[in-house]
Amino acid sequence: MRESWHERFAEASGCLKSDRCHKTVVPVLDLKIGGDEFITMAGPCSVETEFQLMATANHVRRAGARILRGGAFKPRSSPYAFQGLGLEGLKMLARARAESGLAIVTEVISETDVSLVAEYADILQIGSRNMENFSLLEAAARSRRPILLKRGMVATVADLLRSAQYILDNGNPNVILCERGIRTFETATRNTFDVAAIALLKQISHMPVIADPSHAAGHRELVPALARISVAAGADGLLVEVHPHPDEAWSDGEQSLDFDGFDEMMASLNPYLALRERAVGDSSGARLMEAVG
Ligand code: PEP
Ligand code: MN
Repeated sequence: MRESWHERFAEASGCLKSDRCHKTVVPVLDLKIGGDEFITMAGPCSVETEFQLMATANHVRRAGARILRGGAFKPRSSPYAFQGLGLEGLKMLARARAESGLAIVTEVISETDVSLVAEYADILQIGSRNMENFSLLEAAARSRRPILLKRGMVATVADLLRSAQYILDNGNPNVILCERGIRTFETATRNTFDVAAIALLKQISHMPVIADPSHAAGHRELVPALARISVAAGADGLLVEVHPHPDEAWSDGEQSLDFDGFDEMMASLNPYLALRERAVGDSSGARLMEAVG
């Protein structure tokens, strides 16, 4: 790795590859995030009903997802929008894990909820709006659960890595970075998917990188293409919104795939995942980059 990256990201030096640490693999139940297997996390934006969650969990598991996502505490831009089911949602997620065997990732939005959410979740999600909520980062880190840290919508890569460094400095090495798109002048998509950030993070950081094509795109028709690009850029997995009836979803329906859409997306990833498998072992990802041109 070039010395200039070390200088540029000096305040997040613990996140960068070094002789001491080239690759962090985050253990979650029987899974390894950042290891050889590409890990798909899928599920609804918000936990709504027992039926919605169970049907989605069972479907995405059969289609190859390894982790169930679902928000119980929702950070909504509008104060009048659905804010999540809270504890009842966490309990539903725990039942879905028991029934499906999938691990659970769910968001924590407040320092005071960290211990409660950590009781139920296998991975704590820190959302875009909270990437720089440093007291939340510290509390979440100290829960010792793995942390999925989403890039803030106006955060640079340096900002993201500085936030990840807060988690490391609070004694938690299990950080998973997530690119979910950033705000730019472009408004046709909900956010601008910064695929270069994925490639860059994979080159300079030892942490797993997960791509969220759903919040980047904002439109479900674009999600499969962004998912394929994520594999090609070297992501370790995906975070994708799926709902049995997206048009009736209580949040983010426009960007959620229905079950058939999820199956089609997963099938369309296969050739890219086959190239990725051939590249595994070459930690720079260079061969995959070459293979996809
Ligand atoms: C989500 O994952 O549903 C979410 C709120 O994401 P973000 O924080 O990236 O907007
Ligand atoms: Mn969402």
